[in-house]
Formats: sequence, structure tokens, C-alpha cells
Amino acid sequence: MSLPTIEQVEATIRTIPDFPKPGIQFKDITPILQDPALFAKIIEVFVERYKAEKIDVVVGIESRGFIIGAALAYALGVGFVPIRKRGKLPFTTKQASYDLEYGSDQIEIHEDAVRPGQRVLLVDDLLATGGTMAAAVKLVKSLSDMVVGICFLIELTDLKGRDKLQGLPLYSLFRM
Ligand code: AMP
Repeated sequence: MSLPTIEQVEATIRTIPDFPKPGIQFKDITPILQDPALFAKIIEVFVERYKAEKIDVVVGIESRGFIIGAALAYALGVGFVPIRKRGKLPFTTKQASYDLEYGSDQIEIHEDAVRPGQRVLLVDDLLATGGTMAAAVKLVKSLSDMVVGICFLIELTDLKGRDKLQGLPLYSLFRM
């Protein structure tokens, strides 16, 4: 299979105005996932970037972080760990809070999901304000201090999420 260019992948991201509420420009990645060559291209780019980093575990954030994260973990030949919204994980968890536009929410990780010293790559589909990923990093660091990468398919640069993740090895494939 010959892979498409990265520009073709970017052109396939669909922007839906006012979803799920007025003022949000929602970046819909489902057209990429529907196309096996485009999906493979994304995973290939991330694999090239991280294959020499001796990653032990990929941590994906609910829910689109699961899709990219699980495929990436499989391609790297390492395990996958989910970080989920409050109340979804069945075993004993650690929790972290993060701010939403109104109020706050919590995400959780199983307390035995990452072992001390394991080299972790965190993945989500999109970086907006950075609150979700900052909380996810806090959770992972309570289990292992070896966060060797945090990566996104899309970074919405106007929202300055990067500022909440200073000092961390951040990589985004597309900046919009
Ligand atoms: P934030 O914590 O503000 O960085 O928000 C990031 C999380 O919310 C990610 O898990 C994204 O999937 C989701 N998200 C936030 N804004 C958007 C958007 N404009 N389009 C698609 N997903 C978004």
C-alpha cells in the first residue's frame, strides 16, 4: 500500500461549526479513520518519531485518544493504558481534576496501569486549552516519572494549551 502525503491527511480533517455548542469549531477526524491509507499514514508518522524512544506503554485519553493510542501501541509493539472519565474504570483508580469552561471534571487511571520507571507516551487526538492533558500527565507522573512524550494529531494554537504543558516533550502533527 502506498501511503498518502501528510498534506492529504490534513485536508481530510473536517471542521464542524458550533458543535457540540455555539462557538466551538469541532475538528472531526472520523473521515481519516474511515480511510485505511490515511489512518496508516498518521500511525506511521508517530511510529517514526517514537520508535527509538524505548517506549514501554502508550497511554490514551478517552475517547479519541483510545483510537489513535491503541493503534500506535500495537504498531510500536507495546502495551496500551486508557485514561477515562470519572466512574468508568472498574479497578482501583487514581484521580485528577481539570477545569472545564464551567466547573470541573475528573479523569482516572488504574493504580497498577503503569509501573515506576516505565517509559510512557501519552496520546490524544487534539490539544485545545491543555487542561485534559495536564491532568493526564499528573496522573501518569504519580505512577512513573518517565514521561518521554505527549503527542496530538491536532493542536489548536489560538487556545495556547502548550502553555499548560511547559517543559514536557510535546509534539503535534497539525497546528491549526
Ligand atoms: P482541552 O482539555 O481543552 O485541551 O481539550 C482537549 C480534549 O477535548 C480532547 O480530548 C479533545 O478530543 C476535545 N476537544 C476540545 N476541543 C475540541 C475541538 N475543537 N474539536 C474536537 N475535539 C475537541
